[in-house]
Amino acid sequence: MQQLFNQTRREQLIAQITQQVHASLDLEEIFQVTVTEIRDFLQTDRVLLYRFDQDWNGQVVIESVDDNWDSLINREIDDPCFQTKSASLYLNGRVLTIEDIEQAEMTPCYREMLRSFQVRANLVIPILNQDTLWGLLIAHHCRSGRRWNPTEVSLLNQLATQVGVAIHQAELYQQLQQANQKLEALAIQDGLTQIANRRWFDETLDQQWQRLQREQKPLSLILCDIDEFKPYNDYYGHQQGDHCLIQIAQALQGAVHRPDDLVARYGGEEFALILPNTSADNALIVAERARAAVEGLQIPHNPSSVAPHVTLSLGLGTLIPAADHTRKELIRQADEALYQAKAQGRDRAIKFVEETKNSR
Ligand code: GH3
Ligand code: MG
Ligand code: MG
Repeated sequence: MQQLFNQTRREQLIAQITQQVHASLDLEEIFQVTVTEIRDFLQTDRVLLYRFDQDWNGQVVIESVDDNWDSLINREIDDPCFQTKSASLYLNGRVLTIEDIEQAEMTPCYREMLRSFQVRANLVIPILNQDTLWGLLIAHHCRSGRRWNPTEVSLLNQLATQVGVAIHQAELYQQLQQANQKLEALAIQDGLTQIANRRWFDETLDQQWQRLQREQKPLSLILCDIDEFKPYNDYYGHQQGDHCLIQIAQALQGAVHRPDDLVARYGGEEFALILPNTSADNALIVAERARAAVEGLQIPHNPSSVAPHVTLSLGLGTLIPAADHTRKELIRQADEALYQAKAQGRDRAIKFVEETKNSR
């Protein structure tokens, strides 16, 4: 009867932990359930998961321990007896069972270590992550010596396999998340200049528009266009042109200071600066700083009719977002002002005013 009960309990335990491994990516939780349930099932004093680091030292990452005995959690264990030889044994699936450390044959240093952990009987099962030895599943009986019977060993072996699966799954999930983050960054970043691309610009403009409409605060937009960039490319070559774009992107990035400001590549040789909560006068200061930063690069531009170096024209618009006009209106303002900057001789920042429109 007891045997039948034990068997049922064993099957339940395996089912429960297997199910947990499949349902959750939370390793901490899986580990905790595993050690708690195993200690309960074995009616023993301490069950722990031990993870190796590179040089076969390691750490107790989780444990379930009876109140009467010391906790080993987070203890760095510098085990002088554990050698590469033991590691290869465990890698091949070796299970270590010790019924009584005072009787069993073992190296004195291992016995000393177990004594210091109050251990009398010990059951150690390897945890493999694919082909590497991740760590050990360990049961400590502290109150007395103890026989570990084969069904118990086999149960723990099966559970250690499940823990290995969980660890591998969590690793895969983490890799997937990292890959996704990279993809997301790629999708909104300009490949050449590494600053925000047009998509990121559009999304940011939308978000800031909505936010500042709620807050009824000004949103400024600066459109920048490199002066006589076609002759630059014709003279220095497209590759040099690309290099120039990268330098200018960096200079613009350096010209904005607030965390919410965004510098984006708006088109081929055009850039845009979104300046939330910034008045027209303050945006003009930023625009002038951006213009001066590009001038400061002193990139030679021989065929330019403006200056012997690369220059930038900037147009800026400012609106307090309202329901009855759109983001397009803000872009139109900045575009008009940029047109004026070009018309007035380039290498300058011009702020949109209604007269600008009328005088055109
Ligand atoms: P303006 O002062 O009126 O702006 O003259 P511009 O020559 O800069 O204006 P235009 O729009 O006629 O030419 C833009 C040029 O920018 C066209 C192209 O040669 C260059 N360009 C656009 N995108 C890229 C790019 O990704 N790399 C390089 N190297 N050049 C680009
Ligand atoms: Mg252009
Ligand atoms: Mg241009």
